[in-house]
Parts: sequence; structure tokens; C-alpha cells
Amino acid sequence: MRTLADFAAYRPATISRIAQALAADSSSYLLKGPRGSGADELLGAIAQTLVGDCGGCGECASCRAVADGEHPDVLLAQGEQHKPVAVEELRRIVRFASLAPTQARYRVVVIPDIDTLRLTFPVILKALEEPPTATKWLLSAALIGSELAPVASRCLTIELEAPSDVEIEHRFREHKLEPSALLIKWTRHRLDRVELFARLTDPERYLSTYADLPSLIREDARWCMELAHRLMPEELGSAGESEEIIQCGLEVLVAAHTDDGDWLRRATRASASLNRHLPLQLVLAELILRSG
Ligand SMILES: [Zn+2]
Repeated sequence: MRTLADFAAYRPATISRIAQALAADSSSYLLKGPRGSGADELLGAIAQTLVGDCGGCGECASCRAVADGEHPDVLLAQGEQHKPVAVEELRRIVRFASLAPTQARYRVVVIPDIDTLRLTFPVILKALEEPPTATKWLLSAALIGSELAPVASRCLTIELEAPSDVEIEHRFREHKLEPSALLIKWTRHRLDRVELFARLTDPERYLSTYADLPSLIREDARWCMELAHRLMPEELGSAGESEEIIQCGLEVLVAAHTDDGDWLRRATRASASLNRHLPLQLVLAELILRSG
């Protein structure tokens, strides 16, 4: 688990905002930053800081317990991927938050991506309104829509910067990868995409398949199936991850052709005929619409 000090080397402004916010001693904090800005890791690092006497060193027994999910005063709420946190889980969280800490100065409840709470907002709102003095809520969100506004208004919001190219490069190196400038660019400043690319056997070679695509754009459905097959990385198991990485490649591809009306027209027609591979069709169509 990374510490706030690890992040400070790359994003000093974010870390100083977090330090100021912690000094303000609020009962609930909301990290707001774009997807892939490392909000989840930062929530963990803040939890270590709040429950340890060490200031969040990352090494001591308390910090290790937080990292392993075994600290008795820290609860990490997790919905299943892409699914909301269930109401029963939320009741369990609220009960946990209502009790006094057993070891540390605070009880800490961590809820990454509060968008997953959408249906259960009333439960959490009440808890946020009447927090026991020794409980801290740590939440994160990529976007604060009108639904989330009541939750956000009860928290001290901390804006996160997106990771810099240097930080992205450093993350690739942790995976023993020497990324090209193009690969760094293709992550679009998202740490989650570094993790995704790192799982490919040869990410640079995978991305090079996108370089040929403009000249290959054709309108027939069979070709579209071939395209979908070509772009589907074998190393990634879940459909969600494959779509994510394809979206990532197509984003850069479309961005490189925004001035090429003829290419965009052909790509739009090709996307319209992608009717037998719906997810890819949606991705391509969305990107073309966005760029047009
Ligand atoms: Zn520590």
C-alpha cells in the first residue's frame, strides 16, 4: 500500500491539500478526482495516517493491518465490481461507524467511489449527519452529480490532480516496463490504465494494431467482427476490461483523426455496421460522436 509520502513525490499539491484538510479535523472527507487519479490508494493512505501513531509510515504493525484489511478500527466498504453496495452492507457499515474505536484514536470508514451507493443514499446521509466524534468517513467520487450533492455537502472535499506523465512512467517501471512516450500518452493520465496495460504481454505491440486501423476502416459487418476479434486482448479475462482497453486505443485513434473528415465518415459508417458486436459498436460510435 502506498503512503501519502509516496504520492508527495509526484503530486505535492494534492498531498498538501490533504494535509490541510486533515488538520481541519472534519468528520468526513470526500476525495474528488478524475478516474484513475489514485483516489482509492489515497483513501487507504489517509486511513493509515488517521489510525496510526506513526503518521502513516506504511511499515508499522498498524499500517500493515490497514493495508491487509485487518485493522479492527478500519472498515473498507466494497461493492462487487460495477455493482452498488448492498443495503445490508451499508447497514453493517453504519453500525461499525457508530461504535467507539477499540485500538486507534478513530474509527475509519472507507467508501471508494460513492457513486456505487446511489440507491442507498438515505442510509449514509443520516450517518454522515450525526457522526460519533471518534469516527471519520473517507469517501471518493469521480463526478459529483445532483444525486451525490447532498453527500458531498456534508464532507470536506479535496480535489485531486490527475497523475503526471512522470508518475505514469514510474508506475510502468514498477511493472518492469519501459514505456514509450506513446504508451504513456495512451493511458490518458490514468493509473488504472497502467495496471490494465501492464497485464498485456506486449502493450506496445498491442497498441500498434491501432495504427493500421484508419486505412482498414470498412463498412461490412464481417470485417467489423474481424476487427473486434483483432482488438480483443487474450490476456484480459473479463469483457469489461477488454472493452476498457479497446476504448482506450480508440480514443487516441479518433483524437488523431479529428481533422480528417473522410476518415471519420468512413469510421462512422463502419461503426453503424458493427451491429453484431454491440459493445465495440457502442464504444466506437460514442467516440466518433464525441470527436465530431
Ligand atoms: Zn505506520
